Amino acid sequence: MLDILAYLPAKRKPTPSGWLSFNAVCCQHNGSTRDTRGRGGLKATEAGWSYHCFNCSYTASFIMGRTLSVKARRLLGWMGVPDNEIEMLNLESLRHRSIHGILEDRQQAWNQLSGIAFEERDLPPHAELLMPEHGSYWEYVRGRHVPEDFPMMVQIVNDGVHWTRPHVVVPFTYENKIVGYTCRFLDNRQPKFISDSQPGYVFGTDLQHANWTNVIVTEGIFDALSIGGVAVMHNLD
Ligand SMILES: [Zn+2]
Repeated sequence: MLDILAYLPAKRKPTPSGWLSFNAVCCQHNGSTRDTRGRGGLKATEAGWSYHCFNCSYTASFIMGRTLSVKARRLLGWMGVPDNEIEMLNLESLRHRSIHGILEDRQQAWNQLSGIAFEERDLPPHAELLMPEHGSYWEYVRGRHVPEDFPMMVQIVNDGVHWTRPHVVVPFTYENKIVGYTCRFLDNRQPKFISDSQPGYVFGTDLQHANWTNVIVTEGIFDALSIGGVAVMHNLD
């Protein structure tokens, strides 16, 4: 295994908790000024090492048997480890891969994804369920092939306070709670949409069926609605 200690700056100091401290090698690559106060730390463990910088907060770690991360590769490069040594370390690590390591990595990714949470939000005032009686609103939504069981809303506004442009309201749901919405205006003026959306929200996850084996990703909400896909909404159209 690559002897990382051989690449640390010569001036280093052990701490009681098992870290070696030295001038960090990362800061000047991250828009901070070069460390001169020994704020970099490395702790070697049986299976790898961890690096932490108390100056620019850069962290990286390596465990034999896991893929060498981008952050660890960068750090090794800054330490002056030649590219071919870095590649060899990665290959050696892959040879030590185990089913447990792979499953643990997967579990970590899963934990991050399942930790996603959205707060409950209100629909705009006076939003009501879209009905055939709503005439042109109803026609528009049917024309976009939105399933009839989707709870499309409409906000008929004539109080002079709220938007006066005709629009339908598409509720954003997550785990069957309302977490936002978008108003789709039916005149041909800009903007076409005004939304209340939370970072990371993907429209349509609630519309997927457990026995479906593929997910179709679209850009627009109405496309997603018409084919039972999800919409990433980078470009609301
Ligand atoms: Zn740093």
